[in-house]
This record gives sequence, C-alpha cells and structure tokens, in this order.
Amino acid sequence: MRGAARGLLLAALALAPQASAQPPVRVRLLERLHPRQLDVQGPSQHSLEASASRLLLDGVEVAQPYVLADAAWTLRLPGEGPRHYRGALSVRAVRGELALVLLLPLEGYVAQVVAAETTPGTAAAALAAQAVVARSFFLAQGPRHADADVCDLAHCQLLRGSGVSAAHRAAASAAAAATAGRVLVLASGAVAETPFHAACGGHTGAPEEVFGSAATGAAAVPDTGCPAHRWQADVPLGVFQRALAPLLAAPAPALLAAEALDAQVGQGGYVVRVLLPGGGAAAGDAVARVLDRALGWGAVRSARFQFLPLGQAVRVQGTGLGHGLGLCQAGAALRAGRGETYREILQHYFPLASLR
Ligand SMILES: [Zn+2]
Ligand SMILES: [Zn+2]
Repeated sequence: MRGAARGLLLAALALAPQASAQPPVRVRLLERLHPRQLDVQGPSQHSLEASASRLLLDGVEVAQPYVLADAAWTLRLPGEGPRHYRGALSVRAVRGELALVLLLPLEGYVAQVVAAETTPGTAAAALAAQAVVARSFFLAQGPRHADADVCDLAHCQLLRGSGVSAAHRAAASAAAAATAGRVLVLASGAVAETPFHAACGGHTGAPEEVFGSAATGAAAVPDTGCPAHRWQADVPLGVFQRALAPLLAAPAPALLAAEALDAQVGQGGYVVRVLLPGGGAAAGDAVARVLDRALGWGAVRSARFQFLPLGQAVRVQGTGLGHGLGLCQAGAALRAGRGETYREILQHYFPLASLR
C-alpha cells in the first residue's frame, strides 16, 4: 500500500473509537518492602537495582521507566518468598528504592483481587459478588496514588503475589469472567464506590454516618446468621491516653479516662463518634484504628466497640471485623452457601444500587 491510500488508512486508525478500550490498571507493588534490589524471572531473567536515582539492569544503567513486557513474572526480593504476577512491569529508581508498577487489564486485576480478598472454598456466587464489588470500587475512583491507580495493600484492594493456590486463582478468574464488565450503579448512573469488609458481626453500618456521602449504594442492613466475631483487647491506661489524646484534643493525656468519654452509636451498633466533654470529638472508626495501631494491629477489630474501665487498663470489647460497611464477606459466603445468587447477595448489601 502506498501514498494516499496508506495515509487514509492511518487516519482511519487514528480516529477509531478508543472508549471501549479500558486503559491498563496500574498497581503499585511491594512499596512497604522498600526494595533496593530484586531478581525478576519470566520470558527473560534480570537483576534490577536502584542506585540513588539510577536504575541498573544486570549492572548496566538503563533509561526509566524500564518496562518488562506483559507476561508472567516472578519477583525475588532478598529475605522474601517469591511473588508471582501477570502483566507488564514498569520499574523506576526513586531515592535508592525500586518503584514497581504492574500494568494489567481490568479483568485480570479484578481476578487477582478476588483471589486475594477471599478464602479458598468460598462458593462461586460470593466470589462473583466480590468481583462486581472489586470492579465497581476501582472504576468509581480516580487514581489513589501519585504514580499508580491503586496499591497492592488493604489501603486500596489486596493483590498478593503469593500464598494463593492455583485452584483458588482459577475460581477467582472464573468469578471475574462470569461478571465481566458488570458494576453496581447509583440512581444517578454513577458507578458506586462499593466498600467491603471481613465480617459485620450481624448488622452492617450506615456509610453516610462514616463517609458523610451516599455514593456507595450500601445501607445499614441486618445480616441474619452472620456470626458475631467477638473480640476484646486490654489497653494499658497510659497507651490509651497517649493514643487518644491528640484525636480528642484532651488538655493533658493523663486526664483522659474511659469513664469520661461519650459514644454516639449509629445504625447497626457502630460507634459513629467518640466525644470528650469539654474537649474534641473523633470518628469511631478513627478511634478504633488509633487504638489498634497502638497495640500493634489486629487487636481492636471494628468500630462496634465499648470501653470498660479496669483501673490501670481499658478493656475494649467489640464484635465484627473491619469497618462494617457494604459487602460483608463472611455473610456473602454464608448466603452463597445457602444458594443465593450473586445478584441477590449484592442486592442485600447494596439496596441503593443496581447491577449494570
Ligand atoms: Zn492504596
Ligand atoms: Zn455479616
């Protein structure tokens, strides 16, 4: 083909509609591990190293970002088990660390999130509900990080490169494929920012009481049969006071006593606000997170809690795991086991949204 005909074809290609092609999802990988050097194995095998702002590939400086083509890649970091990913891998050196971004199609991302966010053996309908929720959660939001759309941590949605069996990966991929392109939408037509959590303990919470917006499509609903998931943690009084004083604007941390605090309890029994008379107020979710961080994570497990003063400690007692908003993963698994479809499961937790 020559001359004008070729020119016309190129023009036609340039004008072809692009809207249907979803740009790749950009996932920031392994940031918490601060990788300086790693080995990568796939169609080719390389060593990557960050030296200040220089990127070394097999010991030779290369232009950045350096992109490893779309394939199955295994990453090995010193002192860590191997991580397996499928997609293109973009690598830069930033202040002596490797900044890794995985680029993969939306449905591949959804499948990997479903695999990471659910337990093996979960019934197919619950996996399909999680796939719709993961896809909606992603599409409803703009980029959440400076150099990527999402990270691989619970801050965004989990994406593990290890510890997922081949059978569970296959089940998760089937759930993504069975619901491909389907999202929950609000009455406005916008995609719902679908939150999800591990276990509601019997009742979900009201997103508008926590986020102050109704963009989730979720509502506080009873979750019959969902186990309470009781937990309790004893927080030494000094730790309690130091953790909460900045949040509650206490004049002096030592004056902060559990007895003095008021709790505003919202729908489903979740603490919406904790108030210090004469001081400040903080969101119940923030109070739970600050106490959990002070204890080293995993102890204060939801915002449905109460304080019991024990003299030199404060006992924090609660039920449920996670923020309690939107899809309850434990409840969804039970519902799927009882024969509910993924549409019925989504309708239960997101009564203000519809499937599109
Ligand atoms: Zn994130
Ligand atoms: Zn539940």
